[in-house]
Amino acid sequence: MKRIAIIGGGISGLSAAFALDEQRRAGGDVEYVLYESSPQLGGVLRTEHIDGCVVEAGPDSFITEKPWAADLCRTLGIGDQLIGSNDADRKTYILTRGRLVVMPDGLMFMVPTKILPTGLSPLFSWKTKLRMAGELFHPPGAVGHDESVAAFVERHYGAEMVDRLADPLLSGVYGGEAANLSVRAVLPRFAEMERTHGSLGRAMLAARKKMSAGPSRPAPPLFTSLKNGMQHMAETVVSRLTGSSLLTNTPVQAIQREAGGWVVSAGMQSDHFDGVVVALPAPAAAQVLRMASPELSAELGGVQYSSSITVGLGYDREVRRSLPPGFGFLVPRSEGRRLLAATFVHNKFPHRAPEDRALLRCFFAGVNAESVWAFPDDQIVGIVREELQEILGLSAEPLFARVYKWKSAMAQYGVGHLDRLDRIERLRQQLPGLALAGNGYRGIGVPDCVRSGREAAKQLVET
Ligand SMILES: Cc1cc2nc3c(=O)[nH]c(=O)nc-3n(C[C@H](O)[C@H](O)[C@H](O)COP(=O)(O)OP(=O)(O)OC[C@H]3O[C@@H](n4cnc5c(N)ncnc54)[C@H](O)[C@@H]3O)c2cc1C
Repeated sequence: MKRIAIIGGGISGLSAAFALDEQRRAGGDVEYVLYESSPQLGGVLRTEHIDGCVVEAGPDSFITEKPWAADLCRTLGIGDQLIGSNDADRKTYILTRGRLVVMPDGLMFMVPTKILPTGLSPLFSWKTKLRMAGELFHPPGAVGHDESVAAFVERHYGAEMVDRLADPLLSGVYGGEAANLSVRAVLPRFAEMERTHGSLGRAMLAARKKMSAGPSRPAPPLFTSLKNGMQHMAETVVSRLTGSSLLTNTPVQAIQREAGGWVVSAGMQSDHFDGVVVALPAPAAAQVLRMASPELSAELGGVQYSSSITVGLGYDREVRRSLPPGFGFLVPRSEGRRLLAATFVHNKFPHRAPEDRALLRCFFAGVNAESVWAFPDDQIVGIVREELQEILGLSAEPLFARVYKWKSAMAQYGVGHLDRLDRIERLRQQLPGLALAGNGYRGIGVPDCVRSGREAAKQLVET
């Protein structure tokens, strides 16, 4: 019988446990114990149901293009609960000199693929528009080293594009700044496009042409979520696992190699296993591995994380009528505000709010989150309301407000991240029976975390 410990009960650890449980049910000689420090399983997947609204404290959805989270839901038998974003109503605004300016049609991340909407948009100056035209002549060939997303985008489109689009779009995903994120880790497709085509614009147009030559299928929605919220996915995984294998309120202090296996120390208890899946944010993984491998621990500790705060606000029918159409807005840092983004949740997804309610999700991250971190919730709500009043003219009293703080939960893949992952992998291979999963490595989103958990479990079962 192979005994495996899983450390961390977020979606990465739960996915590893589910994969092991599948093995066990298929007759595999395997047993697992999952350790979770908090009273609750699911990690940052947390949903509250308030006044008929589905309020997401952590992630609100995942990108459809990455299949692993939706596949897990289907395997769990809750495929019918998956919902797609209302892409027909998709419209995102960028706060530009205090005004909300709609992102022009045809922009693929920051790459323009339609001349007219971008050419006429007040989002960019003439200087940037000329840069966009000139970018089409960018010669192929890659820079020989990794660089920041900001440096990469600036080389192609200039600094205004970094400020107005690349930085706000990425801070919504990583909670970090384009100047600190690695282009090779965060935008590998764009780095590859530069290598093969030179111009990102030309590469994007070529990709579109290729797609339109194939059989025409309706485009799937950009984002997927669950009718009753993201926590439903974690809860359903938990309901399929063996209850006695799940230890909540059990923080692991350390894991160490012993007699060809691993000893997991949690409080006064220690237990022996053949393998361990460490499914923790990288700094927490560094802590538990500090005695087993100081070198691996140092590398894991080098992956930076940022903190974030989400604020859910419910409003009445009048507010719903008064808000602009679309999914919400992003705020470039140069606007000098604390809020980084707000989503009009009632527009973005079905089943999120009754017809007579508006649901807003506001987002702070990085230094902006740190600057309000110590404030009591009502003060944070006060700041959000002040900013919403100035940006949207929204002065109504919310029907409810909730503040959710996430300390160091979002990984920042800094310049050189892929080299660090190679070093981490080499050090891990020196420790047989150890597998790593989670958002610190090859994808921060829920689908990548699910994939990482399943792969980690497979790795240990097969060795
Ligand atoms: C505010 C926010 C919004 C996000 N939005 C999106 C989104 O819209 N779409 C998307 O795809 N992704 C989003 N993400 C990213 C994604 O949700 C996370 O990367 C992913 O859920 C992380 O899962 P995890 O299991 O790896 O880590 P976590 O969920 O952080 O779970 C780790 C678990 O380990 C436990 N733990 C820590 N230390 C120990 C220890 N020593 N012993 C035992 N247990 C321990 C913790 O209590 C926690 O439960 C968002 C993240 C945040 C924070």
